[in-house]
Amino acid sequence: MSSLRVLILGGTGEGAAIARALEGKASVVSSLAGRTRRPAALAGAVRTGGFGGAGGLARYLREQRIDRLIDATHPFAAHISANARDAAERTGVPRLAVERPMWRRQPGDRWICVSDAAAAARALADLPDAVFLTLGPGDLDAFAGLSGRHFVLRRIDPGFSPLEGAEVVLARGPFDLAGERRLFTDYGVGTLVTRASGGAATEAKIAAARERGVPVVMIRRPPPEPGPRVSSVEEAVAWALSGALSSAGSGSS
Ligand code: NAP
Repeated sequence: MSSLRVLILGGTGEGAAIARALEGKASVVSSLAGRTRRPAALAGAVRTGGFGGAGGLARYLREQRIDRLIDATHPFAAHISANARDAAERTGVPRLAVERPMWRRQPGDRWICVSDAAAAARALADLPDAVFLTLGPGDLDAFAGLSGRHFVLRRIDPGFSPLEGAEVVLARGPFDLAGERRLFTDYGVGTLVTRASGGAATEAKIAAARERGVPVVMIRRPPPEPGPRVSSVEEAVAWALSGALSSAGSGSS
């Protein structure tokens, strides 16, 4: 095993795939926030819980003698990505972000793009039930005041939901088109609310909505942190092993 030490900020399919690809080639630690009760098994070592801000992450990078930091967190996990940039700058540890490719709008899509969950809740006023919510727990409060609406909520873990009376579907992606078609039919989905997360693992719901002419209220992504980023697992793995971006890499902004 190489002595190269790589920290992956994960909690995503991309983070898991990078850890798998680096197995046997580098000493890998995946970091999870600890939000999911039973996270899927990961290759390599795993640490769980916040670092205590950018300063805590910088300390961890130094103490663990991390050579490379890969930010493979979810596009909406903006705090940890900002901390990763800050900690990398403080320590000089090279950092790379993996930016999940956004879905492409296609003919037949009826997207209503909004800035946040509160705006998404307002946009529902003229849109039909049932409203299928595929959001993080932190976004649900914005919908709690909408009485008389029929919500279908998909989440990984059971647990408290501020949406009284919502139908809850417990499931973990990736999701395929056949399953999404079935869900739209079984629950009579009239509107989909989603974040613009992108990526293949959750794209089937967008295709199912398109097929049925179902409007999609789409919450825009926060802007990515400046700095080097790539859009694929393969590019991130190549960078981790060589320390260089291929010319095909997305580069920085
Ligand atoms: P966030 O708002 O950016 O982060 C909040 C705090 O949680 C961070 O400041 C950090 O605490 C801690 N944290 C977040 N990700 C961490 C990680 N990978 N390892 C260690 N600590 C982490 O993040 P979030 O939106 O709550 O997401 C948390 C995790 O869930 C991320 O790993 C993300 O990839 C994953 N995830 C998020 C979503 C989503 O919808 N946001 C969806 C799928 C997966 P300290 O400041 O104390 O270090």
